[in-house]
Amino acid sequence: MYVETILKDKGHNVVSIPADATLKQAADLLGEKRIGAIVVADKNGLAGILSERDIVRAVSKFGKDALGKPVSETMTRNVITCAPSDTVDHLMGVMTGGRFRHVPVLDKGEMIGLVSIGDVVKYKIAETEMEAEQLKIYIATG
Ligand code: AMP
Repeated sequence: MYVETILKDKGHNVVSIPADATLKQAADLLGEKRIGAIVVADKNGLAGILSERDIVRAVSKFGKDALGKPVSETMTRNVITCAPSDTVDHLMGVMTGGRFRHVPVLDKGEMIGLVSIGDVVKYKIAETEMEAEQLKIYIATG
């Protein structure tokens, strides 16, 4: 199964923030939207990604001063992305190997969604349940 299957269900909305916003503004947005990471966008598109872990690390390092610092100082610049045509199993490998839980989806250079590890797990559970159901039918009618 493919990344685009997940996007079909969850939609194409990507929450983003400018690089000169503060960590406090980023934390407010994460809280308000109930999400774990936001994409950092500039005029050229994808400039970075900022997750709740980055904010925790900054607070641990700078104390309350962290919240006034710009997102650009804390975000990860080298963002790993995937394509809608990638398989979900490939995406799981990327997340596990890179030790991150969010991956923006790019289609011909344009951002068309973001998949989190929660989306992947939800999808995997549904897939496993479907397989179990098919096995039950197979055994009952075999
Ligand atoms: P996460 O597990 O997504 O909360 O992120 C853990 C760390 O990986 C943080 O430093 C994030 O900035 C970074 N990160 C999250 N997603 C990505 C990604 N797709 N590519 C590169 N780094 C990422």
